[in-house]
Amino acid sequence: MSAFNEERVLSIHHWTDRLFTFKTTRDPSLRFSNGHFTMIGLRVNDKPLLRAYSIVSANYEEHLEFLSIKVPDGPLTSRLQHIKVGDTVIVGRKPTGTLLIDYLLPGKRLFLLSTGTGLAPFMSIVHDPETYEKFEQIILVHGVRQKDELAYHDLLVEHLPAHEILGDMVSSQLRYYPTVTREAYRNMGRVTDLLQTGKMFEDLGIPPLNQAEDRVMICGSPGMLKDLKHMLEAQGFAEGNTSKPGDFVIERAFAEQ
Ligand SMILES: Cc1cc2nc3c(=O)[nH]c(=O)nc-3n(C[C@H](O)[C@H](O)[C@H](O)COP(=O)(O)OP(=O)(O)OC[C@H]3O[C@@H](n4cnc5c(N)ncnc54)[C@H](O)[C@@H]3O)c2cc1C
Repeated sequence: MSAFNEERVLSIHHWTDRLFTFKTTRDPSLRFSNGHFTMIGLRVNDKPLLRAYSIVSANYEEHLEFLSIKVPDGPLTSRLQHIKVGDTVIVGRKPTGTLLIDYLLPGKRLFLLSTGTGLAPFMSIVHDPETYEKFEQIILVHGVRQKDELAYHDLLVEHLPAHEILGDMVSSQLRYYPTVTREAYRNMGRVTDLLQTGKMFEDLGIPPLNQAEDRVMICGSPGMLKDLKHMLEAQGFAEGNTSKPGDFVIERAFAEQ
């Protein structure tokens, strides 16, 4: 059996000239956990050109959804950004990754810290009813440069709290904290600084991080992961992985060249 499925593009939404979302069909045999990533791509000169992508859609949904950067000279995204409804995208059959609530020890609050396309795996996690059963409060932080890069803002603020099944849990348990670094916005600054100075906790009116009760997932640039990992370890948090659950887990939103 091939390691890949061929899926059809169902819809595309361009957030900005650097960021877009698309939905595809989903082979019913594809299994994944919320928070996983898989290899996706296009056939170029009859060869698959693939990159790792977090799955935005939840594992109970019929379609697949991805959030993508557009790198102007990027081998994949210089092409992928031009896909049209009906085009074929290749999707790997072996999703994997460390951003699973199963890889965290039990806790009261779950912090989901993301920058840029690092929001993608957390979209699937905030659509998972189990997240709300395992944690009393979920704090979703998304840092971007400009406010139009706050993908899924309206879904998180308006549609998810009104969701037929998840709405009540989302309204009472999910806090969403979008922050912008390069233009005026209601929350401003880098995620790392907002945590270190305590500003984010003040703005949300919640106590600061506490290893005894809090669990953390991080998905962002390699630099952000490094800084936050140091910060958490200095506060006594232990990193978890696929074989040993911990207080926090991390995944790169992309690899530096
Ligand atoms: C575990 C994992 C999960 C990923 N999930 C996603 C995802 O959900 N959405 C997504 O768009 N990308 C994701 N990526 C990055 C993705 O694999 C590709 O790098 C990206 O699609 C660009 O591909 P490319 O061939 O056009 O350029 P590449 O040659 O792959 O990248 C060129 C350069 O562009 C920059 N870059 C690449 N991706 C990003 C990004 N997402 N944000 C900011 N800068 C970037 C980096 O500096 C990189 O060196 C993920 C990467 C990893 C390792």
